[in-house]
Amino acid sequence: MIPAAFDYARPTTVDEALQVIADGGDDVKILAGGQSLIPVMRLRLAAPELLVDLTRVEELRGVREEGHQLVVGAMTTHADVLADPLLARYAPLLVQATGTVADRQVRRRGTFGGALAHADPAGDLPAVALALDAEFVIAGPGGRRTVAAADFFLDYLTTALVDGEILVGIALPKLAADDGWGVRYEKFNRVAQAWSIVAVAAAVRREGGRITEARIGLTNMGPTPLRASATEAALVGVDVSLETVTAAAAQAAAGTSPSNDLNAQADYRQHLAQVLTRRAVTAAAGL
Ligand SMILES: Cc1cc2nc3c(=O)[nH]c(=O)nc-3n(C[C@H](O)[C@H](O)[C@H](O)COP(=O)(O)OP(=O)(O)OC[C@H]3O[C@@H](n4cnc5c(N)ncnc54)[C@H](O)[C@@H]3O)c2cc1C
Repeated sequence: MIPAAFDYARPTTVDEALQVIADGGDDVKILAGGQSLIPVMRLRLAAPELLVDLTRVEELRGVREEGHQLVVGAMTTHADVLADPLLARYAPLLVQATGTVADRQVRRRGTFGGALAHADPAGDLPAVALALDAEFVIAGPGGRRTVAAADFFLDYLTTALVDGEILVGIALPKLAADDGWGVRYEKFNRVAQAWSIVAVAAAVRREGGRITEARIGLTNMGPTPLRASATEAALVGVDVSLETVTAAAAQAAAGTSPSNDLNAQADYRQHLAQVLTRRAVTAAAGL
């Protein structure tokens, strides 16, 4: 179907975008890569009166270092993420997960910020942002605010962004291999390029034979991305081995509420969460 008619604005700065949004009335939508929004508009599930296209806002693109963090501009495309040397060094979990998103065409247009703002529980990047304790930098009419990942994903397709606001950047901690960090994104889907039925994002830090920090995010195990907190707690401080990782991974589905759908029943998803967590942590820990 062809989308309903809409007005279109293409600002070049964040301030200009905020003004256009503020002036646009009640029915304004931000357009990033359009890879989720345009299909929804074509189905006429959304029919905004005004689309504010952020693709010309250069300040929203790219990756920069800020002390112990990397800040990724919201309009940085998935393809840009895959090519970025800073992310390759300090955020390889994001790079791995981004490499599993869709196909080259979608990755060329789709953006990191758009994927997070859309907050699809089957999307691969929200669980990564949650596992990394990312911070979301949001601009609005009253200035800027920062929201922790744990407070950003509120419900199915629902985030802490409110009308009039733009997600401008995502701050990630630097987790480098030479500081003991290992990572793995384990995605389970039926065919290449499909959405995750379940996926697990794992980052663990080893010192000698022990895990000193564990961060595990779960994709598609509830209406929002989740942390496998029980598994994380069970991993820290133990001598790392296949047995200890398997025992900890057995708790990966604790507190989850996955859906039943054509791809999988909830109990199968819970089984997958355990299996994929074991695989992800085993690989991240270098076993
Ligand atoms: C065929 C296909 C397969 C896909 N497969 C996968 C997959 O396997 N895994 C996966 O994770 N994703 C997948 N995707 C989704 C893809 O990752 C999209 O890029 C992403 O969901 C949306 O990003 P976008 O930049 O296109 O955002 P858009 O579609 O432009 O926007 C999405 C939503 O976010 C809002 N928004 C966007 N940017 C901002 C911002 N800066 N501030 C505030 N709100 C904003 C928009 O208003 C809209 O509501 C797939 C998409 C397609 C078309």
